[in-house]
Amino acid sequence: MRNITIGTTVKVFETEEEMGDENLGLMNEAVLALKKSYSPYSKFQVGAAALLENGEIVSGANQENGAYPMCLCAEMVVLSSISARFPGVAIKKMAITIKSANKVIDFPVSPCGACRQTLLEFEERQKDPFQILLRGEVGAVYELESARSLLPLSFDGSMI
Ligand SMILES: [Zn+2]
Repeated sequence: MRNITIGTTVKVFETEEEMGDENLGLMNEAVLALKKSYSPYSKFQVGAAALLENGEIVSGANQENGAYPMCLCAEMVVLSSISARFPGVAIKKMAITIKSANKVIDFPVSPCGACRQTLLEFEERQKDPFQILLRGEVGAVYELESARSLLPLSFDGSMI
């Protein structure tokens, strides 16, 4: 028997100044995308914005449904939009933020498991990792180097 350790390195930006213009600009687009949220049930808005290799920014927000399993996460909305509008164009980085009507969340919120798996699939397709920026409504920003870093022991198409 032996133990193995699986780690993820996360860069933490405590201030907007530390983020740099590109990261800050993309996070601001994710904040603007919160206005696109349709979340009358959870009152939990999620905004996401992706910077593509061609310089375009694609943003979106969560879309809820009275039939809960049909809800769309913001990340899925953005990824689907990229597939429709810019097929084959690689993602450089994605910023994700949230706003809850119930409380101020002052720590970075991570994508759900389904989104992590879908982000990984996009990363595998483009054969190049993309950065992910995470933020709560306020507070520090996490930067991860890849979608894979969000999903340790991941399953992907190479295993089929
Ligand atoms: Zn999700």
